Amino acid sequence: MTFQNNTAYAAQLDQNDSLKEFRNEFYIPKFEGNECIYFCGNSLGLQPKITEQYIREELEDWKKLGVKGHFHAKRPWFSYHHLFKSSLAKLVGALPEEVTPMNSLTTNLQLLLTSFYRPTATRYKILVEEGAFPSDYYTVASQANLHGYSAEQAIVELKPKPNNHTLTTQDILHTIEQLGDAVALILLPGVQYYTGQLFDMHKITEVGKKVGAVVGFDLAHAAGNVPLKLHDWGVDFAAWCSYKYLNSGPGATGALFVHQNHDPKQHKLNGWWGTDENTRFFMKKEFEPMKGADAWQLSNKNVLSLAAQLASLSIFDRAGIQNLRNKSIQLTDYLIFIVNEINKSLSIEIQIITPRNLDERGAQLSLIIPDQLGKTVFEALSRQHVVVDWREPDVIRMAPVPLYNTFMDVFRFGQILHQTLDKNIENLKQTTKT
Ligand SMILES: *Cc1c(COP(=O)(O)O)cnc(C)c1O
Repeated sequence: MTFQNNTAYAAQLDQNDSLKEFRNEFYIPKFEGNECIYFCGNSLGLQPKITEQYIREELEDWKKLGVKGHFHAKRPWFSYHHLFKSSLAKLVGALPEEVTPMNSLTTNLQLLLTSFYRPTATRYKILVEEGAFPSDYYTVASQANLHGYSAEQAIVELKPKPNNHTLTTQDILHTIEQLGDAVALILLPGVQYYTGQLFDMHKITEVGKKVGAVVGFDLAHAAGNVPLKLHDWGVDFAAWCSYKYLNSGPGATGALFVHQNHDPKQHKLNGWWGTDENTRFFMKKEFEPMKGADAWQLSNKNVLSLAAQLASLSIFDRAGIQNLRNKSIQLTDYLIFIVNEINKSLSIEIQIITPRNLDERGAQLSLIIPDQLGKTVFEALSRQHVVVDWREPDVIRMAPVPLYNTFMDVFRFGQILHQTLDKNIENLKQTTKT
C-alpha cells in the first residue's frame, strides 16, 4: 500500500475505516479545550462511555439490595466472573474454563509461578529476557529465592545481539534448546513493553515444551492488542492486566489463563473462591476445586472494578479482535510511513526500534530520536497535547490504538513532530555555534 502525507488522504483513510464509529464510544481527554492526540493506550487505555453505567448499576444494586446482591443483583456478584468467560476466551484464544478475571498482573504471576515453577535438583533454570519489566523480574527472582536459589543461580536472561534492541526468534529457540533439560520454566512477554516486539509465542511454546519446560506468557501488552491462540499453541499459563489495551481503568482487575491440560488439584495457593461453588457455603475444610482456571481464584471479586472490565469487553465483542488487528496494522504502517517521510527532510534520522515485520509488532512503535534530543522532543510534544510516553534511557513509546485512534491522529502527530524537530535541530546548532 502506498500512503500519502496529507490531510485529505488521512481523512479518506478515516472515512473508509469500518471501525471508525468506535472512537465516539470513548472519552478523549481535552487539554485547554482541545482533544489531545492520545497514543498512550498501551499504558492506560481511555475510558469507554458505557463504563460509568456498568459501575453505577452495581452501586445501585448494592444500595438497594445490600448483601442480597450476591445472589439477586441484576448481575449476581457470586457468579459475576462467569460473565467474562466467553469474551476473555475469544480475546486470548482459550476455552471458557481456561480463563478467569482476578487480582492484578503481578499477583497473578506470583500465584501462577507458585504452581508452575517446580524446580528439581537438576532442572531449576528460569528463562526470561534481559529487558524484562522489573515486576516480572522481581517475580521470578523471588520465586527462585523461595526455592532456595539465588536469582543468579536460577535466572537465565535472553540478550539481543550487540547493537540490536530486539531478540530474534531463532536466538530464543536456540537458547531454549541449549538449556534443554536444565530449564524448568520460561516466562516471556507476548509483546515487549519497551520495544513493542511481538514474540512468536507459538514456536516458543512448541520448543519450550519439547525440552520439557513449562511455558508462560505475560500478556500485559498483548491482550486486546493482537489476536492470540493460547489453547491451540499449548501455552501452559498466562496473565495480563486490563488497564492497558483493555481500557478497564487504573489498577483494574486483571485476568489469567491456565491450559485445560493442568489439573486444578495441583500444587497451588488456595482460597475459598477456588472451591466448588455448589458446596462453597458449606464451609468445609476439604478443598474441592472449581473446574479450570477458576480453581486458582482466592477471594471473592472486586465487582466495582470488574464492572469496568465487563463494559470494556462488550466493546471488544462487538468490534472483534481480528478486525481491530487489521486496522491496527494499517494504522501502525501509516505511522511508520509518516516517520520515514519526516526522516527524508531532516538532517537526523529517527530510529524505530520496533521490528518492521508486521508479524513481530503490535500497535506500539518505539522511537529513538538521536543526539539526545528524545527527552526535549517528548516534552515539546506534551506541551502540544500529544500524549506519548517516555521510557528511560532514550525511548518514546507510542501506540495508535485501533478502537479510538484515527489516521488523522497519526498525520497530525507527524506535522507536530516535524515542526518540533525542525525547531530543536536549529536550537541545537545555535547552541553548538556559541
Ligand atoms: C504493565 C506491566 C506490569 C504491571 O504490573 P501490575 O501488577 O499490573 O502493576 C507488569 N509487567 C509488565 C510486562 C507490564 O507491562
